[in-house]
Amino acid sequence: MLSREQGLRELIQKYNVSGPRYTSYPTAIQFEELTDRSVLETELMNRASAPKAVSLYFHIPFCFSLCWYCGCTKIITRDQDRGDVYLDYIEKEAAIVSKTLHSYSSAKQVHFGGGTPTFLTPDQLRRLGEIIHHHFYVHEEVEFSVEIDPRKCTEEHIIALKEIGVNRASLGVQDTNEEVQKAIHRIQPFEQTEMVTLLLRKHGIGNINFDLIYGLPLQTPETFAKTIEDVVSLNPDRFAIYSYAHMPSIMPAQKLLNESEFPSTNEKLGMLVYAIDKLPTLGYRYIGMDHFAKEDDELSVALDDGTLQRNFQGYSTHSELEMIALGMSGISQGENLYCQNEKDLNRYYELLDDGELPFKKILSLTEDDKIRRKVIMEIMCNGEINYDRFCTESGQDFKQLFCKEIEKLRLLEADGLLILTESGFQITDLGRLFLRNVAMVFDAYLKKKSDQTSYSKTV
Ligand code: SF4
Repeated sequence: MLSREQGLRELIQKYNVSGPRYTSYPTAIQFEELTDRSVLETELMNRASAPKAVSLYFHIPFCFSLCWYCGCTKIITRDQDRGDVYLDYIEKEAAIVSKTLHSYSSAKQVHFGGGTPTFLTPDQLRRLGEIIHHHFYVHEEVEFSVEIDPRKCTEEHIIALKEIGVNRASLGVQDTNEEVQKAIHRIQPFEQTEMVTLLLRKHGIGNINFDLIYGLPLQTPETFAKTIEDVVSLNPDRFAIYSYAHMPSIMPAQKLLNESEFPSTNEKLGMLVYAIDKLPTLGYRYIGMDHFAKEDDELSVALDDGTLQRNFQGYSTHSELEMIALGMSGISQGENLYCQNEKDLNRYYELLDDGELPFKKILSLTEDDKIRRKVIMEIMCNGEINYDRFCTESGQDFKQLFCKEIEKLRLLEADGLLILTESGFQITDLGRLFLRNVAMVFDAYLKKKSDQTSYSKTV
């Protein structure tokens, strides 16, 4: 008889294949060059025709130094004047975007990501706040979050963030071990993380998430356990614990890492199993994929009441919001369309100088895409499909439409990942660790081998 840990390790090994993280469906690799801007007209007219609740994302691409594991769209520079120029263009973009919204539309979520949002000086952050409040109506109960690099965040930054309405923060920690930090070129003494956490709370930014990564060079199950112990001592509300995906052909910075220093697959699995077993004993509930949250955190509440959503920032609340991204490389998500902004900074500026929305890529969703997106997001967020409810909401007979997929689910059921009944299927607690694998059954694009190799491993 296998122990629980052995059984879990075997399943993790079996299901550890390349696959999307499903922050969107179809995923970004399906986006195509935008050649005909007229396709945007219907979507934008639709957006402006009625009041909507929206989620605004602002991408701040600059970072002071390169972390060698990084896969984000960023620009390394120490020249903070570049922030002023960038904000000039964010202002131009906000002016154009706001005209595509109904005057009674409101922002219920605002998020600053990067790069490093706190690359901006406190005054630049204040200016960004002014741009937002000038061009958009920000809902009084807005969820306003910012990604923070504790190495580049002073009390002045936090005061400025609070002034413009920020009420939650996500701190990049990755690992607290000094040797691991040297190996990834990100030196961040734990005291720095602690200080920024305390300052955030002091200034009333109370909802705090920490990002960790497992599978980094020189990490061992022991150093990872110590990292968890360290960060739990700061009592965050949420954790995101990401599996490091080594894909140097797509993310060139990763070539700088010493490949001989990576933990073995077995050690990496040990870290994941440790997190899954340990965090619930410390009061953190497993939400799905890489996310853990306290029982009373809004993510936990959203999981219970079926309003959890998945977007380009991971899990979030407010499933009803249309996502609008500003800044280079940002991805907007409408009902029928995904649009990605230019990733080239000069080209992003040029398009705005021409008075255009700075889109580079686009994907118009087919009816099949939309129905599969609904299924995949239900799996990733709510962990179940009820055939009758699905039919009521979409007008589609699930069993008829997905008879082949249901047969494939039987194999996952045999491994205990889900339970199939006459009325639908439900992911088990064990299956929540393998949500991507269940969702992949419904992905119409994975049949192409070349698509699969563009993704990280699912575990
Ligand atoms: S990990 Fe964050 S801080 Fe480091 S280079 Fe990437 S975006 Fe910048």
